[in-house]
Amino acid sequence: MNEHETLLKPGSDSSADYVFISHAHLDHIYKSTQDSGAICSEETFLLSTLRGIGLKRVEEPFPLFDSGHILGSKAILIEAGDETILYTGDINTSPLGNIPRQRFPKVHTLIIESNYGNPNLVFPPRSELVKEAVDYLRENLSKNRPVVLMGYPLGKSQHIQMILDGLLPDVEKYASPSIIRYNDVYRLFSLTIENKSIMYSQSQALPKGYNWILYYPNISGRNAFMQVLKKKYDAVLTVFSGRSLLEGYEEALGIDKAFPLSDHADFKGLLEIIEETSPQRIFTTHGFSKEFSRELRKLGYEAYDLNSMRGKCIRLF
Ligand SMILES: [Zn+2]
Repeated sequence: MNEHETLLKPGSDSSADYVFISHAHLDHIYKSTQDSGAICSEETFLLSTLRGIGLKRVEEPFPLFDSGHILGSKAILIEAGDETILYTGDINTSPLGNIPRQRFPKVHTLIIESNYGNPNLVFPPRSELVKEAVDYLRENLSKNRPVVLMGYPLGKSQHIQMILDGLLPDVEKYASPSIIRYNDVYRLFSLTIENKSIMYSQSQALPKGYNWILYYPNISGRNAFMQVLKKKYDAVLTVFSGRSLLEGYEEALGIDKAFPLSDHADFKGLLEIIEETSPQRIFTTHGFSKEFSRELRKLGYEAYDLNSMRGKCIRLF
């Protein structure tokens, strides 16, 4: 294995003997890697196939750890001589919807995602957020205003369904077909998600009453179908995304309300991973990687922004 090239985060034009596919989001799986041996979980293998990217899955030559981001998401630990390297992939320290996360070992080198690597990006406590969302949904439903709950169709939508469905009994529940296909994969791995009726965007048979919610992918409130739902039902458009912490998010997306419920660690969660692994050097990647590496250097860590390195490909050993 040591004599082969292994890519930890393949890009759109990369291939190697082995690639690590941390999870099945589209910014982590690429057609270009289909001929490489894929180090990934069984869940990622199935979800990638469903997304049209067949992987050549190999036996795991390195230990993988649940990263708490979506179904089957993993971090990888590479041991080479005395050196240990952990790459987190996308990670969540407060996983949603019973997606597990494991404790990580102490390592020499940590490569960590930084989607929320900015000190201003800290989420409110989960219980407060869920209560606020449920109160908001119930209030609108009681006024005969159905609610659309948007979140990306693989991961976020399943997680908000697992959290909210049980708290909204006696409400008719719909989902778009792009979400229902992934619900089925979650069920294959024993995660319980309530059955929903399918609602197509081109549907002529929209619900008759007003007591319903619809799980839908993250799209603009100005989208034609969303406008139909608003005009016909006075529907309320909500989005679940950590990005809603950013100024002007609701207005830019043309929605009524956003809740910062995320599948990623916030700034505090990222620091928690760093304390847990106590690395000697850190590489930050994705999102606020530059800001995060700067914050880490202020705290006394040897930290580098991987995104700004030439070619974004470094040889670690
Ligand atoms: Zn992801």
